[in-house]
Amino acid sequence: MHNNIKKVIVVGGGTAGWVAAAAMSKKLGKLVDVVLVESEQIGTVGVGEATIPPMRAFHKLLGIDEQEFMRATGAVFKLGIEFKNWGQVGDRYFHPFGATGQSSYLADFQSFWLYGKSKGVNADFEEYSLEAQAAKANRFAISNKGSINFAYHLDATRYAQFLREFSENLGAKRIEGKIHQVQQHSDGHIKALQLESGEVVEGDLFIDCTGFSGLLIDKTLKVPFLDWSHWLPCDRAVPVQTESIEPAKPYVTCTAHRAGWQWHIPLQHKVGNGNVFCSEFMSDDEAVQHLLNNVQGQTTTEPRIIKYKTGRRKVFWHRNCVALGLSSGFVEPLESTSIYMFMIGIVRLMRMFPFDGITQPVVDEYNQQSIEELENVRDFIILHYHVTAREDSEFWRYCKYMDIPESLSHRIKLFKDNSLVFLGERELFRLSSWLHVMLGQGITPNYYHKIFSTMSDKELVSHLSNTRRTISDVVSKLPDHQSFIDRYCKTLS
Ligand SMILES: Cc1cc2nc3c(=O)[nH]c(=O)nc-3n(C[C@H](O)[C@H](O)[C@H](O)COP(=O)(O)OP(=O)(O)OC[C@H]3O[C@@H](n4cnc5c(N)ncnc54)[C@H](O)[C@@H]3O)c2cc1C
Repeated sequence: MHNNIKKVIVVGGGTAGWVAAAAMSKKLGKLVDVVLVESEQIGTVGVGEATIPPMRAFHKLLGIDEQEFMRATGAVFKLGIEFKNWGQVGDRYFHPFGATGQSSYLADFQSFWLYGKSKGVNADFEEYSLEAQAAKANRFAISNKGSINFAYHLDATRYAQFLREFSENLGAKRIEGKIHQVQQHSDGHIKALQLESGEVVEGDLFIDCTGFSGLLIDKTLKVPFLDWSHWLPCDRAVPVQTESIEPAKPYVTCTAHRAGWQWHIPLQHKVGNGNVFCSEFMSDDEAVQHLLNNVQGQTTTEPRIIKYKTGRRKVFWHRNCVALGLSSGFVEPLESTSIYMFMIGIVRLMRMFPFDGITQPVVDEYNQQSIEELENVRDFIILHYHVTAREDSEFWRYCKYMDIPESLSHRIKLFKDNSLVFLGERELFRLSSWLHVMLGQGITPNYYHKIFSTMSDKELVSHLSNTRRTISDVVSKLPDHQSFIDRYCKTLS
């Protein structure tokens, strides 16, 4: 289709829809009209509280003020994720943001650390991470030098409202109404949405943000779904919110149980909790009970079961429809990646924006880049389940012995045998993330690069202990997280 694109319809007003509308109206609002259609009656999925650091770059792009955003959404800072019971029951490790240790030109930091261990320097890998140590001490500050890498925990409903106001102030138009029918041109492109009220909303490009229902990409355009549940078998979640009973910690806790895991995400005004589980090995009732047995503080919402299937659409952009958010696919929330995926998706779309009409090479390029990035995320999540010593339940035995994608299998072997990690293009998770999770889940390579053995033992010990000392000095000077929040961005309610 070579028609000019002058009117963009964002279909759905969950986090994905309002993120898309905010970015489009801020960056391209002078060139195209932005209209968002949503139905309050249908509502949103209402979860999605933990984020990752690239969200800050997205906010910067849109000129969103951090303090204003944090006050509006009850947000706190996030330095990483604490994983409990993943490698074995009773285990604990931390996946921090930011780079751990210093790599040399020939070999990365893990070789240095492994060589140190062989010489009796037994400090944990996490002791070389500023973010892990700050999280452990519950401390945080934003330094002018920007050395701490961080993201946020936020209230998903308030975030969508915040972005709605932001978008409407920039001229985005919102239409309330349930879509009853989708009209197509004779070539299959989408022509208009017909609402139950009878109103017809025409557009040139449609961004499908209708959540798991995939109203355009699935129900209308019939783009197939590629199922990944054989690699990621959890298929349900039950969230519940509780009152805060302690100062907010600057990290998420993910605690594995016999058929999945439970999240704990502190915000300023409440705590988000949820149980992600595999329905083959745990009933809904058991899941709710397990969740309620393991939360602190009074519940403030009713637990509700959310069913999902892990996987992706075969393509995300088809004809004049681009799927963003849950309509495009879903990889479970273990590493808080979904919000980022549609932020990068809308930025990618704006970079390739088809002002003069949609051409197939652009569509193919968009799909290829988006698929590559999502599949790298998928591999990283599978790693958490597969590399485990747990055999205490059918669920964990399945995960431990299941076949995994060749791309991940190669990466695990390369690390196990050679302590090497190489990143390809479009890898969201960087070297340190892979290292913390692989080591944390129980892989300790025997090999290290011999370049470090040219150091004297004295040099080695002093270099490693200086690195740890510098980190603990910085951490000891940080204020505690809650007092920083109270000063910087305390929410009014
Ligand atoms: C259990 C769980 C936990 C999660 N945790 C995280 C996390 O910690 N971090 C993270 O980054 N992500 C997380 N996610 C993902 C995150 O919640 C979603 O990616 C995000 O909320 C985006 O959802 P959405 O906007 O695509 O869909 P939704 O929120 O479902 O919005 C769909 C919209 O489409 C509209 N709509 C649908 N059909 C129609 C119709 N017929 N007519 C009119 N309007 C319609 C609805 O009204 C709604 O406005 C989690 C997801 C789940 C399931």
